[in-house]
Amino acid sequence: MTHLAAAIMVDDPAAAITQAERAKREGADLVELRLDRLAMQPQAGDAARRLVQACPLPSIVTCRPEWEGGEYLGDEENRLAVLSAACGGPRRPVYVDIELAAYQRSAEVRAAVGSILDQTDAPGLILSSHDFTGRPADLLRRVEAMADEPRCRVIKIAWTARSLRDNLEAFDLLRSAVKPMIALCMGEAGLPSRVLAKKFRAVLSFARIGDDPGTAVGQPTLRELRDLYRWNEIGRDTSVYGVVGWPVGHSRSPAYHNARFTDEHINAVYLPMPIPPEYEHFKATMLTWLDWESLHFRGASVTIPHKENLLRFVEERGGTIEPLAASIGAANTLAVRSYGGLEASNTDYAAAIAAVCDATGILPEGLAGKGVAVLGAGGAARAVATGFAAMGARVTIYNRSVARAEALAEQIGETGGGRVRARSLEDVERAQADIWVNCTPVGMHPDADTTPLPDPPPSWGPGTVVFDTIYNPRETRLLRDAAAAGCTLVHGDEMFDRQAAAQFDLWTRPLAVSSRLRKEQRRKYAVGFQEPRTK
Ligand code: NAP
Repeated sequence: MTHLAAAIMVDDPAAAITQAERAKREGADLVELRLDRLAMQPQAGDAARRLVQACPLPSIVTCRPEWEGGEYLGDEENRLAVLSAACGGPRRPVYVDIELAAYQRSAEVRAAVGSILDQTDAPGLILSSHDFTGRPADLLRRVEAMADEPRCRVIKIAWTARSLRDNLEAFDLLRSAVKPMIALCMGEAGLPSRVLAKKFRAVLSFARIGDDPGTAVGQPTLRELRDLYRWNEIGRDTSVYGVVGWPVGHSRSPAYHNARFTDEHINAVYLPMPIPPEYEHFKATMLTWLDWESLHFRGASVTIPHKENLLRFVEERGGTIEPLAASIGAANTLAVRSYGGLEASNTDYAAAIAAVCDATGILPEGLAGKGVAVLGAGGAARAVATGFAAMGARVTIYNRSVARAEALAEQIGETGGGRVRARSLEDVERAQADIWVNCTPVGMHPDADTTPLPDPPPSWGPGTVVFDTIYNPRETRLLRDAAAAGCTLVHGDEMFDRQAAAQFDLWTRPLAVSSRLRKEQRRKYAVGFQEPRTK
């Protein structure tokens, strides 16, 4: 069993008990009582002993010195005395944690720890080693040294992840461990090691309680681990999905997909996957995650700046690229088939068109001849403009940098998507269009009072459709202005939910069903494009 442990930095024992009670309510089954600060107070030993007795959950006791990333600044003798007192009451902690370096360095430390371990019902010894700067060069030697210590019951190794690939090394250590083990990567890139600790049979994973800052960078909250990342459902065969981007911290996708996995009783979890912008990082991470069979990595949502990188990667690996994704020049979905084949698709364009059609009652074929003003010429604009142009709409791209709008218009024309015009964003005041789509980030949280159009255009009125692809906030300033002018509104979450639902179908429906769904979607929303070819 892998425990869900809450780490509590103890200043005041009464407050620590309240924290532990809250941890229990939030799903923890173990607490780590970090005595670093308490141990520097008078009568710390008595306070630590009483704390362990009163703790509502089984405990680990730790007093981490500053030299190992903790806050304890006193001498070793006092530290060991406090730990010994904490373990001396009738109710013992389950584990006592001592740093490998302290244990190896000093016979006194080994003797003091030995006398704790020699008691009846003594706690187990966790020998631990941490590196807050990155992966230590002697990582494997440290693990071996802990494994070789006869009194060590649990090996704990933690280091700050340099990239997502470090998580795989943590999983490898867990798989080959000769003793029970905790292997965690710290920092944002280390989140998979915390969420998937249960998949790889670690002794425990640590989490924060509520708004508490926690005891290491990158610790999720208990609620996040339990409710968002499906802690209770994770097992050895759990499939892994994620959202690849840089940054990805703001993404709504983990909430959407994990909730869908729960609703549909699918044994899978979906994680944020931050990967730096360069193709080399994308490729190296994807290759290692895909090759790691026991990870069961089955697919990803791909967002800025990696949508073009996904196309290149799947092409290089001989996978299948949806033709419209190739025309758009960007893909947002990677699906890994059971035989290992890769598929890159774009679910943004159909989602944008469906959001407009559903909100307005216009049939997809009714878009032919409609005037569409697309604001922006980035990734979202590329998918939206290509999609509407493919439906026969008269698309004009308005962008701050007109050269980028021209390049996009030209590219859509060259790939057979129809004639698309390009204008400067300054010209938008004189624009006439039936459908307006904001594909710039202007108006997004936290700048929610900004708008890409300083004043609503005079041509706006009942019958004009205004679509803001921004979904945070839902009611953007642009949409508020459009509502005041009597326009029909389309919200960004209408697109988000549809593109996410299409991704979910691609991953979870049997290949034949998802191919049929995609074919129907292509017929409906992108006439004129060919079916995919398998390379
Ligand atoms: P992107 O590739 O970075 O493109 C941003 C575009 O906005 C560029 O054309 C840029 O103009 C323009 N822009 C940026 N700041 C501007 C400013 N201050 N004033 C005027 N124009 C500005 O980003 P993206 O991937 O296309 O995403 C754009 C927005 O679409 C995001 O904010 C996101 O909310 C939304 N989106 C929504 C969904 C959904 O499912 N609802 C999906 C994808 C994206 P330059 O070319 O001149 O730099």
